[in-house]
Amino acid sequence: MSHENCLFCKIAAGEIPSTKVHEDEEFVAFKDIRPAAQTHILVIPRKHIATLSNCTESDAPLLGRMMILVSRLAEQLGCAYTGGETGFRTVINTGPGGGQEVYHLHAHILAGPRPWHRMG
Ligand code: 5GP
Ligand code: ZN
Repeated sequence: MSHENCLFCKIAAGEIPSTKVHEDEEFVAFKDIRPAAQTHILVIPRKHIATLSNCTESDAPLLGRMMILVSRLAEQLGCAYTGGETGFRTVINTGPGGGQEVYHLHAHILAGPRPWHRMG
């Protein structure tokens, strides 16, 4: 399900270029164009869901798989939390009150040395 004039639907479809770090049937992950940290990745479902507030019980499996993908990507990017420490931040901005700019559900993965830039 894509949404006309949705930036992230277009990125998922390859109609707008991005630096992808992962792509599968259900999700795409790519570098944020204005990185707030050394590692700043956005993970999106191909399905157009505007915000976390638009999710329903039927989206629970998708959201679960999205969080597991975040964890797998953190491993791939070298920032997973392991016995050797390190870790990462996961952010989902929701609606104007949450500072959301792009209305296609996405999880930010942020990691790396401080200071990080302000998001938004
Ligand atoms: P939000 O505030 O909606 O959670 O975050 C949207 C994010 O998308 C921002 O961090 C912004 O830098 C990023 N972004 C906006 N437009 C583009 C784009 O065209 N390409 C990429 N790769 N990232 C974008
Ligand atoms: Zn979309």
